[in-house]
Amino acid sequence: MKDYAISFYKNFKCLGGECPRTCCQGWKILVDDKTYNRVFHYDGLDSFLPEIQESMTTRYFFSLTRKPEHVMRQNLSGKCVCLTPDGLCKMHKLLRFNVMPAVCINYPRRSYDLGNISETTLELACPEAARLLLEHQGPLQMEEMKLEEPYEVNWIIGNEDEAFLKFLMDLRTALSEQIYDKPDLNKDILNQIYKMSFDIHHELLRDKLSEANNILQSFQLTDKEAADDAIDYMFYPMEIMDKVIAYNICPQVTDCNHKDLRKVIRYYFKCFDKLTDSEAREFYLRNYDVMSQEIEGLEEKYKSYYIYYLHEMLMSAYEDYHILRVILLGNMYMQIYRVLDMVAWLMAKEQGKKYDMASQSELLSNLERRMRHNLSITDGIMERIRKEFLNGNES
Ligand code: SF4
Repeated sequence: MKDYAISFYKNFKCLGGECPRTCCQGWKILVDDKTYNRVFHYDGLDSFLPEIQESMTTRYFFSLTRKPEHVMRQNLSGKCVCLTPDGLCKMHKLLRFNVMPAVCINYPRRSYDLGNISETTLELACPEAARLLLEHQGPLQMEEMKLEEPYEVNWIIGNEDEAFLKFLMDLRTALSEQIYDKPDLNKDILNQIYKMSFDIHHELLRDKLSEANNILQSFQLTDKEAADDAIDYMFYPMEIMDKVIAYNICPQVTDCNHKDLRKVIRYYFKCFDKLTDSEAREFYLRNYDVMSQEIEGLEEKYKSYYIYYLHEMLMSAYEDYHILRVILLGNMYMQIYRVLDMVAWLMAKEQGKKYDMASQSELLSNLERRMRHNLSITDGIMERIRKEFLNGNES
């Protein structure tokens, strides 16, 4: 098997105790069957974890739930029992990978086994991965790279439709290269990508991969002919995006794991509440102009995010053939990221703070954590897109 990883993977090094976040805080940690069985087939943990104090051993043992699924129980502050006061994982420190759930070993790596090859990206919910993406220069692509020990490919896609896999890879390359060559990722460009994926979706529903291939071969992103009206970046009506932010993404007041994102969303409401769709667009554009003068390479950053997203998510369609879903969600994530990035910048300005790279990475990582890495939120967003954007016209 050949292993590939996203361009900036080789520069990743966990920040350890210096990290502004803790990987596992606030997340339900699923324990894979392999690890669970390994732990419970031993006569207690003491025999193979001699260095771990008795209290930690017992706590770890009892923190694994047995039914209906195996998860690590957390303490009242939403922290794993293995977390030490310096913000590190006790098991990781002791290199006890044999008893750690696969997700704890691999995070923030996300790897797909695609048959003859594997591909790894880094989750941007990790602020260091987010920083690496934002600082990355040049095109993003998969580069041949051996996944080092103890990390392993953790997402196996059992499809053997090699022709479709090749199609997906060609699609990803074509989109990434064409987007990279464009000066910005405006509404018109996102619309062309959406229309193409809509047509491809319909051919795939009829099992016509060759037709889908023809659509891809003739696909070329074009610039708008007449600059008759102002450039627009909002693919979805602002009203739909607003509902996604308010009802799907906004964390509960009591949810202390997302308090920084909550502050940004509260500021978003302050800025956008009571604006009509066109006023909200205007507000975004006006402030975007100023922001792009203050922050260099803004459009490159948004293009990188979208291309990164394609590298992480397009291959998931190898499992269910649902390319359209990936694109519709990607366009929504892109729009929300743009708007909340601007809101975070405005908020920093009002507070007299600098919206530097650390703050930008934190916003992106907080947003990814909430918006993309929660299955029920993703399903909720997709449901809203289906009802309010597609109006049931998906198939
Ligand atoms: S979030 Fe990233 S940088 Fe922070 S501790 Fe986890 S892996 Fe390390």
